[in-house]
Amino acid sequence: MPVPLHILKTVFGFPAFRGQQEEVIRHVVEGGDALVLMPTGAGKSLCYQVPALCRDGVAIVVSPLIALMQNQVEALNQLGVRAAALNSARSPDEARVIERRMQAGELDLVYVAPERLVLPGFLALLEDCRIALFAIDEAHCVSQWGHDFRPEYLQLALLHERFPSVPRIALTATADGPTRKDIAERLNLQEGRQFIAGFDRPNIRYRIATKNNAREQLARFLEAEHGGPGAESGIVYCLSRAKVEETASWLAGKGYTALAYHAGLDQPVRAANQQRFLREEGIVMVATIAFGMGIDKPDVRFVAHLDLPKSLEAYYQETGRAGRDGLPADAWMAYGLEDVGKLGQFIASSQASDAQKRIERQKLNALLGLCETTRCRRQVLLEYFGEMGHPPCGNCDTCLEPVASFDGTELARKALSCVYRTGESFGGGHVIDVLLGKDNEKIRRFGHDKLSTYGIGTELPADQWRSVLRQLVAAGLLSIDTEGHGAFKLTETCRPVLRGEMRVDLRRDPLPVKGKSKTSAG
Ligand code: ADP
Ligand code: ZN
Repeated sequence: MPVPLHILKTVFGFPAFRGQQEEVIRHVVEGGDALVLMPTGAGKSLCYQVPALCRDGVAIVVSPLIALMQNQVEALNQLGVRAAALNSARSPDEARVIERRMQAGELDLVYVAPERLVLPGFLALLEDCRIALFAIDEAHCVSQWGHDFRPEYLQLALLHERFPSVPRIALTATADGPTRKDIAERLNLQEGRQFIAGFDRPNIRYRIATKNNAREQLARFLEAEHGGPGAESGIVYCLSRAKVEETASWLAGKGYTALAYHAGLDQPVRAANQQRFLREEGIVMVATIAFGMGIDKPDVRFVAHLDLPKSLEAYYQETGRAGRDGLPADAWMAYGLEDVGKLGQFIASSQASDAQKRIERQKLNALLGLCETTRCRRQVLLEYFGEMGHPPCGNCDTCLEPVASFDGTELARKALSCVYRTGESFGGGHVIDVLLGKDNEKIRRFGHDKLSTYGIGTELPADQWRSVLRQLVAAGLLSIDTEGHGAFKLTETCRPVLRGEMRVDLRRDPLPVKGKSKTSAG
């Protein structure tokens, strides 16, 4: 049997293994099952590609994304490895050729979409082949706890039953404790060995700013820290396609080479923009989350979020595209109360089951916890992935400019009472209008000018009330109604606060920098 290190040098051209690669590879080559958790960029692919070449037969790699498969297969072919991909992009004739080559033992790796792998015909074909191993990439797709659940993945458990003697290796970059357990159970990997690499990306500086005209804030950030137009490559994530387009042309107007990427663009346009981003210097890619899976560009200097990502896993994965070369890079985000409401509404209006919605809500809360923390952001992030005991990092905004906190019990009580008096049926905008004693049609229509809480909050301006409300959500004292229209609701935990039995500490948000243009709500 060929020696792994020899394969690494002669086929892949690398002098040495990284981190736990060698251990994982030895385990799989010897026929063991493995669950591999390594951050993006750590080098997971080699963990199955090297064993595929060491062991007899063809390695079957399950991968959820056609684009990703295609990249990998092309890269392998260039190295002289006999690899192919079976997916919906193949014609039936092409597929038959690949299948024949598999049977004839002429392929080392075959990438397959999960839905094809579990087809009875395909499984029967596999019985006819010599199989080196099964690799299950993006293994978090099997878990409803993961951010990218794919029902097809559930059926992959049958691989263990049908091919008990073939080693399986499942790989993912994103798995918190529950997801990890879920993956092991659902893929029948409890007996396998787990390889968990550290999730810390020390060269990434995390910063989360309060939104106050996010576009201007972004422009200032790019100007001050990334040399302005044309200097450095980065990604700007937005939630909607429309916002991607708007933001890209706004940045272009400021002289940036800003390209757009979202699922609504024609495939050739998307591919062309992606190619330019990979090949040229100094391009800002403005994108929805459709962009990035499998993008391996080492010198992305910043990843900016103009909207909240869906979860901490998503945040980690998206920001993880920065600084893969190990040089300093920025993860920068602007977030505001409206984002919190929007995501709450997203969950509310989705078709998901109640159980699923509960999970999504917990994930949203964990994300808000990161946004509102007064602790080191990296600590909060890493603890979510089960890594306790990291010291404060010195490379995030809360470490660099410690946040002051103050006794906000009175403010919290006013806000909570106002949510209660208005019937727990309204979002932040209206609740704040009532607190400030505003006079408008909606207030008069609901008779909210007659409430005892009308005008009790004039000591704070609206944007600071937004900060208070966000923090109350993050602290679990308020929740966002995900069955209805994203209205604020009181939670059980807020009772002692209302009764005056519990103190609430709030962070003092840095005062927003006044821009020249008019500000939009944050
Ligand atoms: P992941 O799948 O974990 O995100 P990849 O497998 O795409 O990461 O690897 C990330 C990059 O690191 C790739 O460019 C790969 O060629 C490189 N790489 C992986 N292992 C090694 C190694 N042992 N030595 C040098 N480069 C490596
Ligand atoms: Zn820190």
